[in-house]
Amino acid sequence: MTLPIVQAGNPVLRALARELTREEIRSQEIQELIELMRETMRAAPGVGLAAPQIGASIKLTVIEDEAGERTKMTREELDARERYPVPFHVLFNPIIEPVGDEKVEFFEGCLSVAGYAGSTSRFRSVKVSALNEHGDEISINAKGWYARILQHEIDHLNGILYIDRMDTRTFTTGENKVRYWNESEKLGLQKD
Ligand code: ZN
Repeated sequence: MTLPIVQAGNPVLRALARELTREEIRSQEIQELIELMRETMRAAPGVGLAAPQIGASIKLTVIEDEAGERTKMTREELDARERYPVPFHVLFNPIIEPVGDEKVEFFEGCLSVAGYAGSTSRFRSVKVSALNEHGDEISINAKGWYARILQHEIDHLNGILYIDRMDTRTFTTGENKVRYWNESEKLGLQKD
């Protein structure tokens, strides 16, 4: 079973999502929501999904990147993006901070701005602290595409979309990105 993905214009995508308590995280309702979000992300297909994207204004995001299994990106394109497989995991109440000030720019898309992409500058390295699905504290050091996914998904929990950060003159349909922007990948954060 999958959930409908909310599209840009819905105010839930612009709200500041609320944090969950450890008790809430461990509840059956939230554990079931994690499974639904996992299935929805895989079916989309996407490499991350934040709760506001399915209409729930809570600080929860799921992430998984097969990085190459299904994407049409070449080895060279994957390497340029430092895009490597990231196993499925769940973040609650994440706090993100950049590591260093180096930024990298690539096309990015969003399941809630379906069919479009824009070149977006992101920190190359980030550090995230969060709670996992058991309510335990975790900390993550990420680089490259994984760092980009984290920045994109955690932005969702704060009411921010990539279109707020992109170079607006690069905004394009997915089709025109392949046609005019020398990109074989179809859409930034989508798998293929
Ligand atoms: Zn998104």
